[in-house]
Amino acid sequence: MLQAIRGMNDVLPEEAALWRSFSATVEAWLERSGYRAIRMPLVENTALFRRAIGEATDIVEKEMYSWRDELNAEELTLRPEGTASCVRAAIEHSLLYDGPKRLWYGGPMYRHERPQKGRYREFYQYGAEAFGFPGPEVDAELIVMCARLWPELGLNARPGGIRLELNTIGSADERARHRADLVSHLRAHEGRLDADAKRRLHTNPLRVLDSKNPAVQEVAAKAPPLMGYLGEASLAHFEGLKKLLAAAGVEFALNPRLVRGLDYYNLTVFEWVSDALGAQGTVCGGGRYDGLFAQLGGKPAPGVGFAMGCERLVALIRESGNAPAAARPDAYVIHQGEGTLECAFAIADALRSAGHAVVLHAGGGSFKSQMKKADASGAWAALIVGEDELRAGEISVKALRRTEDQRRIGRGRVVEEFAATMQRIKA
Ligand code: ATP
Ligand code: MG
Repeated sequence: MLQAIRGMNDVLPEEAALWRSFSATVEAWLERSGYRAIRMPLVENTALFRRAIGEATDIVEKEMYSWRDELNAEELTLRPEGTASCVRAAIEHSLLYDGPKRLWYGGPMYRHERPQKGRYREFYQYGAEAFGFPGPEVDAELIVMCARLWPELGLNARPGGIRLELNTIGSADERARHRADLVSHLRAHEGRLDADAKRRLHTNPLRVLDSKNPAVQEVAAKAPPLMGYLGEASLAHFEGLKKLLAAAGVEFALNPRLVRGLDYYNLTVFEWVSDALGAQGTVCGGGRYDGLFAQLGGKPAPGVGFAMGCERLVALIRESGNAPAAARPDAYVIHQGEGTLECAFAIADALRSAGHAVVLHAGGGSFKSQMKKADASGAWAALIVGEDELRAGEISVKALRRTEDQRRIGRGRVVEEFAATMQRIKA
């Protein structure tokens, strides 16, 4: 039997209902916050991600689905994240010609990682990006937006819920000055570093700081803090952000080891973390990337944004027990006897056009078995078209979720009468 690709998930109908309500909440919240939708292709030139994300990162080193399209002689990659594409699109279409832009996107991302709970090879993200805003107010806006989203999704902010970790990694110059001292500290303790950390010592020493290996963490904890190398402007940006978070009542923990896995960040970096998901606890990560436009060949422009992992958030909502109840059809239409199918078909059609959710029974069967199916569908009411009803020019309506006598309504007035019935039954 052919099966789905490892690390790529089917979302079955029960689960899909939760996903749809999750998406509706998130998308409405993004629009309400002043962000406008943009869509980018799932496939881009490999060079885009290499240049944007950086060669010495997990994604570019080992996680990208890349191939050569022989027909066009192009090197292509399934997008592992959205920021690079979004910046590429903004440059390509001169989106910033008339001022800064706030954008959002959602969709699947692809990374060749080891599949496990909360870590998949195809996974969904919502991302928000603000282009052209240099000040800390937009960093704060994005973070506070998230703080307000969690309770809307039925998730606790704190305690025991989703907490905010915050750091600032300064400018490229400040990191370069820090790097020299960091490398000599790590060299002095090289014996306690693992293979990954030793390799990063040369390629991307800052990444050693967010190693998950306890021995490496111990060495990292005693490294000279990057904060000590920041100049006035970087510190002022961070102070500005903290002030706005405090004013909004958003708590955070300063995490000097938080550096994020991608090269393009500067100044603000943050993650929203839950302890209820095991090892894969980060549900949203983001930060500032003021150098990325220039790095991708565009006119320099500041940028800041976040991406949230939908599978992890949907799992949290499911585990919280706050998942919304499955939507019920309004009616399940039953038909039995000569000529009743045509009538049932027309009624279902008319009610759907009037905005009702209607399931028409298909596949025959006795009246009793159709009634059972109506009940199992979760519908509010069964509409019954039998030979009796057909002769009388009527339809029977049976409420399925409360005790009420079965009633007849005239076929010519079925749309009006059914609307009134629904109002009463759902009340
Ligand atoms: P992690 O440290 O968990 O690998 P990351 O830093 O690689 O995360 P980002 O690139 O910042 O992740 O992506 C933002 C969010 O997307 C993450 O916080 C997480 O919620 C989600 N995410 C990232 N990779 C995966 C994956 N392979 N499967 C499911 N969700 C993912
Ligand atoms: Mg990762």
